[in-house]
Amino acid sequence: MKNYDWIVIGAGITGTALAYELTKIGCSVLLLEQNQITDNATVYSYGGLPYWAANTPITQKLYKEGITRHRLLSQELMADTQFRELDLILTIPHDINPEIIHQSYQQCAIPPGLLTVQEACKLEPLLHGDFLSGALTVKHGHIHPQKTAQAYIQAMLNLGGEIQFQQFLELTTTATKKCTGVKTNYTTFSSDNVVVCAGGISRNLLQNMGIYSNSYDGYKIYFSHAEMIKTPPVYIKLNSLVLPANLQRLQLEMASTHTEELWNQPNYEIVPPILDSGVVQFLDGSLCIGQISRIFTTPEITVNSTNSTSSEKWLRESITQILPSLANVPGTWHHCLVAFTADKLPLVGAIPEFSGLHIFSGFSSPLLIVPPLAVRFAKWISGKKDDILAQLSPER
Ligand SMILES: Cc1cc2nc3c(=O)[nH]c(=O)nc-3n(C[C@H](O)[C@H](O)[C@H](O)COP(=O)(O)OP(=O)(O)OC[C@H]3O[C@@H](n4cnc5c(N)ncnc54)[C@H](O)[C@@H]3O)c2cc1C
Repeated sequence: MKNYDWIVIGAGITGTALAYELTKIGCSVLLLEQNQITDNATVYSYGGLPYWAANTPITQKLYKEGITRHRLLSQELMADTQFRELDLILTIPHDINPEIIHQSYQQCAIPPGLLTVQEACKLEPLLHGDFLSGALTVKHGHIHPQKTAQAYIQAMLNLGGEIQFQQFLELTTTATKKCTGVKTNYTTFSSDNVVVCAGGISRNLLQNMGIYSNSYDGYKIYFSHAEMIKTPPVYIKLNSLVLPANLQRLQLEMASTHTEELWNQPNYEIVPPILDSGVVQFLDGSLCIGQISRIFTTPEITVNSTNSTSSEKWLRESITQILPSLANVPGTWHHCLVAFTADKLPLVGAIPEFSGLHIFSGFSSPLLIVPPLAVRFAKWISGKKDDILAQLSPER
């Protein structure tokens, strides 16, 4: 049986970027993905690259590296990621003071400018002025996330990497707790190293390996259930990417991590759901209208058809208040899991319980920072010290 240097679990943006970078430095790599038809957070995401929003030394460095890498990525991967820069409009509802919201963005590397309602409607004529007290604007990077993940996969295959559509079930190890490979729903694969890039499932994969521990903060990886509507190409033309200035998702995530024990209760809703009403249009004219976030402690929960109908109604009613012309666009409701951590920093590095086991998951703004961090990870396993990866270690 072939022995790989690395097995990468999960073919979202994290797994595909990492599999490519590991192959590029000469490792033999197997990318393992459970679904033939992609159905993950990467596919349902807006594709935004908020490089202007860096507000800590670590994000300043990574966001700069991220946008620089994205500007050249299509060329390197020899496939179009649809990278572009467009106007982001951050909406401020009519009952909120725009000056206060504007102030809260001043620590960003490039603080967004404040627009009057008239200026906002000139920039995005589809906006409903009556809904707003003002808006913020800044140039935002944008890619097609699925095409970017596919570009990484194709580039990895071109370099000799491999992909298998099988579900990872368990790690195989020696008696001395050294990783020897993985067992899937079809077979076993042999490998010196395994890296978990399973997005919202990463927490449960660690738990199933019996290594989830509360002893390190870094091990605390969580997930939210996200819901959105994807449309086919529509004739309506949006000039900008529209998001709320006051994002509730981050507050929801923080609130859910205060009491770790609650996450051990199965199928428990820790905090009430939130809706951050936003929309982006891709180059083919299709829209992604988002986003409801829920905290259920079980990933498998079936958000059943009754819920999906009321969720779709909630999403549609909310976006129509901001952009009335989207009232009757065709579209399909979707659900996915999104990983996050309590300190908003990802888990990148070795998991000490098993020699050869690693994690690369739990990112904020992953589409922006995963490409440079995958490069750093590949250099780090080749022996180069990395001051940033040290801060992202699962043992932090
Ligand atoms: C509506 C919405 C908008 C968003 N907008 C943005 C944005 O503008 N910018 C941004 O940076 N981020 C955004 N995000 C977040 C971002 O999309 C995700 O965090 C990111 O794509 C996650 O990538 P991932 O590789 O970690 O996980 P995923 O894309 O979920 O991939 C994980 C993969 O692992 C596979 N897997 C899981 N378990 C196994 C197993 N046992 N065996 C084999 N395979 C397995 C899954 O099938 C899946 O394909 C958005 C998310 C949503 C929902």
